[in-house]
Amino acid sequence: DETETKNFVINDRVKNIFKLRDDFSHKGTYGKVMIVGGSYGKIGAAALATKSALKTGAGLTFTLAPKCGYEILQTSNPEAMFIEGGKDFVNDFKVEEGTVYGIGPGLGTNDETVNNFLKFLKDYSKSLILDADALNIISQDKKNLKLIPKKSIITPHPKEFERLFGTTKNSFERLELAKKQSKELEIYIVLKDHHTQIITPEGNVFYNITGNSGLAKGGSGDVLTGILTSFLAQHYTEEESAILGVWFHGRAAEFAAEKYSKESMLPTDVINEFGSVFTELN
Ligand code: AMP
Ligand code: MG
Repeated sequence: DETETKNFVINDRVKNIFKLRDDFSHKGTYGKVMIVGGSYGKIGAAALATKSALKTGAGLTFTLAPKCGYEILQTSNPEAMFIEGGKDFVNDFKVEEGTVYGIGPGLGTNDETVNNFLKFLKDYSKSLILDADALNIISQDKKNLKLIPKKSIITPHPKEFERLFGTTKNSFERLELAKKQSKELEIYIVLKDHHTQIITPEGNVFYNITGNSGLAKGGSGDVLTGILTSFLAQHYTEEESAILGVWFHGRAAEFAAEKYSKESMLPTDVINEFGSVFTELN
């Protein structure tokens, strides 16, 4: 069955996707984000994703994280609310109605986390963002792939992609495998790379051209997770969230590189340039 595949460069589409903020709005207009992650020694990943969600305009942002992260999270992001999900790891994936989940940054793969995350996925059916250790947990058994809710967005880097779906000889074959999996599982795959590709269940591929090697640092992916979760919570569709979010992340990195250099810029600096990107879009 040959479906027609279309390839797009996404720069031109962003202006049409982006919605201006409504004067007659309130925090309920802009959705609720639930970042789930962090573990002892990796609370920073959850903090980055949380800050990223806050600074992309989400109405209310929560971090579901272990108790050991409580003070760090409340101090680094006073605008976000903390929900305790365990002591040193997240072992209780509480379901909060009406929130959009972004799961994985710094989550860890502790046995109890693995069991509880898989249990959560079995009962959960709304689209969500899965990254990092959430993907590594799913990779532990191929049967887990079917647990990913339809229309979800997964954001593997090449190594995580390989763990999820197996090795390929080159990037061309990898893209073909991504298309096949995206269609079968009915999920959006954000294949993170120098030129990130977004593969949709319909078989379309969107190529991103924003961003730079200043993003080649721990924490960059966590920032992307926060952006995508925030846009999905703000009622962009899954496809729109993926396209706008990936473009936005790279564009913020371009502003950060101008100011600080690719060497010195940090994921936090990328977040602090979100305002420049919104100013450009507005
Ligand atoms: P992660 O490996 O999960 O931290 O994600 C890294 C993020 O930074 C992804 O969004 C990548 O697309 C981006 N990134 C990493 N290295 C580069 C690079 N050399 N050029 C452009 N983007 C990059
Ligand atoms: Mg990552």
